Amino acid sequence: MAESYSHSRIETFEQCRLKFKYRYIDKIIPEIAKSIEAHLGSMVHETLEWLYTQVMEKKIPTISDVVDFYSARWQENYTKDMKIVNQSMKAEDYFQRGVEFLINYFMKHHPFKDNTIAIEKKIELNLDGKGEKRLVGYIDRLVHNLETDEVEIHDYKTSNSMWSKEKLESNRQLALYSLAIKESFGKEKKVCMVWHFLAHDMKVCLRKTNEQLELLREEVIAIIDEIENTKHFPGTKSRLCDWCEYRNTCEAWGKLPPSLTVKDVPTNIHPAEQTIEHKDEELLDIW
Ligand code: SF4
Repeated sequence: MAESYSHSRIETFEQCRLKFKYRYIDKIIPEIAKSIEAHLGSMVHETLEWLYTQVMEKKIPTISDVVDFYSARWQENYTKDMKIVNQSMKAEDYFQRGVEFLINYFMKHHPFKDNTIAIEKKIELNLDGKGEKRLVGYIDRLVHNLETDEVEIHDYKTSNSMWSKEKLESNRQLALYSLAIKESFGKEKKVCMVWHFLAHDMKVCLRKTNEQLELLREEVIAIIDEIENTKHFPGTKSRLCDWCEYRNTCEAWGKLPPSLTVKDVPTNIHPAEQTIEHKDEELLDIW
């Protein structure tokens, strides 16, 4: 079966081909500490996932249940060696930011009656119709809005930056998920992309026409073709290097190439890539 691509894999190729090579071809697992931003993003996502799992089981947690869950998960997964790029903040500040995000979210959305139908929903998209170009991803939360009869794809952002209109309109990830939802529910199904910018207590919704989605499909097929025909993987140095897991061993920075600590990762999408997907999303937005 053809290899499956994730949005993160495609985005990494476009950001830095050398990073793409280290991560997806050489499958090097770097021995570096997780960043605190990634930790915050993971813990908030996990807490919201837990919250809506409770809601789907008809149990509505209290605000203190939510904060308790988040605090426990933070403590269980936090390690003192976590990397803090923004030196003006301490680990406790990041922890507190997560509490604020969750309290604001809770106040705005309680009692969570928007008809959630799935959480961390895996989607698989057959881009070329032949199974040769496939995309796999995970939707944070899927809602069937009974008032508008729309399917809503919800995504949480914990980074500080608020996206511009252009960035929202050009974002491929949720648009590709829209394509996958339309393949399941029918092309004429109305689909809405919903971003929750937790640091701004703001929700943004956007829709794509079928024509726009088909153009995107062609664009992504072309990028996958390019990936599969690429033989050279030069590094692209940028400020994103500060968050890159290969920064200390990167050839582009004159370091020795990372040791080939190859793990036996299958060529199809690995569950860990789900985490990478969240992590990259947060880091590419820069704190
Ligand atoms: S440190 Fe920079 S140049 Fe090196 S692999 Fe990472 S993103 Fe690419």
